[in-house]
Amino acid sequence: PPEQLPLDPTKKTLVVLGSGWGSVSLLKKLDTENYNVVVISPRNFFLFTPLLPSCTTGTIEHRSIMEPLRHIIRHKKRAVQYYEAEATKIDAERRVVKMSDSSDVKGNVSETEVPFDYLVIGVGAENATFGIPGVKENACFLKEIQDAQRIRTRVMDCIETATFKDQTDEEKARLLHMVIVGGGPTGIEFAGELHDFFEEDLRKWVPDISEKFRVTLVEALPNVLPMFSKALIEYTEKTFKDENILVRTKTMVKKVTDRNIEVEVTQPDGNKYKETIPYGLLVWATGNAVRGVVRDLMSQLPAQKNSRRGLAVNDYLVVDGTEGIWALGDCSVTKYAPTAQVASQQGNFLARLFNSMAKTQAIEEDLFQLDQMRESAADEAEKAKLAAEIEVKGRSLSRIKQLSPFEYSHQGSLAYIGADRAVADINWFGGVISSATGGELTYLFWRSAYVSMVFSLRNRILVLTDWFKTKAFGRDGEI
Ligand code: FAD
Ligand code: NAD
Repeated sequence: PPEQLPLDPTKKTLVVLGSGWGSVSLLKKLDTENYNVVVISPRNFFLFTPLLPSCTTGTIEHRSIMEPLRHIIRHKKRAVQYYEAEATKIDAERRVVKMSDSSDVKGNVSETEVPFDYLVIGVGAENATFGIPGVKENACFLKEIQDAQRIRTRVMDCIETATFKDQTDEEKARLLHMVIVGGGPTGIEFAGELHDFFEEDLRKWVPDISEKFRVTLVEALPNVLPMFSKALIEYTEKTFKDENILVRTKTMVKKVTDRNIEVEVTQPDGNKYKETIPYGLLVWATGNAVRGVVRDLMSQLPAQKNSRRGLAVNDYLVVDGTEGIWALGDCSVTKYAPTAQVASQQGNFLARLFNSMAKTQAIEEDLFQLDQMRESAADEAEKAKLAAEIEVKGRSLSRIKQLSPFEYSHQGSLAYIGADRAVADINWFGGVISSATGGELTYLFWRSAYVSMVFSLRNRILVLTDWFKTKAFGRDGEI
């Protein structure tokens, strides 16, 4: 079992915020023996977000893509302290994090402070709504596990309400209109999953809805999936057409009510017109916005005054304007897209950085002692021996200190688009060969890529079992 806490006063305290892609990748590779490690996150599990869209329809059970944080930290050499709480304020000057227990069950103490020597901020981002009225109150998001469960409940509720006795045709059409806003990968993958759910299960369970169930994807820009190549964008749009998913590009949502979205459509001649579209389910997937706790830290630091989308960091992920504070993943701003791939590579990089910082400190202490021994050595031979030892250690110290800056290696982009098809822009051999593919083989690749990425053996087996279960018996129909 790992050595127990309390904190060791001879070691630096490293506080890690969040339990997502960035922070968990750091924790997995970090040698915890070198630090007092404290993790603060309101979520006591890691969530494998690439498979979250599959949970909205029950293709995959939500538990299969959650990995308990306690399982992850249990295997560390030295115990890691975990607090289920939200960081509410980072005081860069006093070097403390204020945290609050945001869960339902609270004890007498539910707010306190944690001091740090080093801090890693990996709190991710929240859903962007651009202040559009009615979004927060009426739309479902797709970021957390509860969001996927809510969507699943809502889809079934819309269907049951549409088949309620004496429902008018117009109301049926509204209730069975599933609208997705945002043609990024989140919106596209959800649309694909919803199509599969309808074709493979819903259509059979409730034949009455067959003709009225519609899926519309609304995107403000001229095309969907801007990060993919032109050929794959066209392939996706064509596949959606075949799947009867209506893609409405150049259509910007301006307002949301409990039954309608109000959009502004730009026509080919540049003229605009307004339209009201009724919906039963509205899924909002328009990307990321900065979390409050991050915005607050940015306001404390003059070096962050020009940063809008998150914490500006240097090449070593140190937050500009601070010392000993790092940020990674979706809460930071770099030249890379806010993806799991980037966040996890940044986590690995920071683990290497902390591991080598600890080694550096140990060598520096050794060097100090050797130098003192050399000064007080009795004869010249002993002095020379110690000097040689100092030189060797000095060389290894400068080698360790030469950690090169963070560099991202892009493995490619992959998205599921429904009907057993996926699109992939893959970089082979470190980007030497790059290929863009779409289709059923790509889908097989997509599945195997995700199974091999899902972290633990337990999760891999659970995901494979879910896929098999869905193919063999269909999805569950209750809720
Ligand atoms: P997150 O993984 O979001 O983790 C943030 C953590 O911080 C969470 O544990 C959260 O509970 C915690 N937290 C929040 N507030 C606080 C607070 N105040 N104090 C302390 N902790 C806090 N990327 C890909 O590369 N490939 C994909 O296929 C892919 N698919 C995706 C599918 C979906 C549906 C979504 C939503 C995203 C997908 N992404 C994908 C993007 C990817 O999930 C994010 O880029 C990634 O999660 C960012 O990692 P992170 O560690 O910065 O944040
Ligand atoms: P995104 O930022 O990639 O896309 C959001 C889309 O919403 C944009 O195309 C934008 O033009 C549109 N939009 C914004 N406001 C709108 C409005 N009012 N009306 C209509 N459309 C509007 O967001 P995302 O898809 O949530 O992705 C977030 C990040 O996560 C990205 O970096 C993405 O690459 C990553 N991700 C990757 C995968 C994958 O690789 N398979 C899956 C999901 C997410």
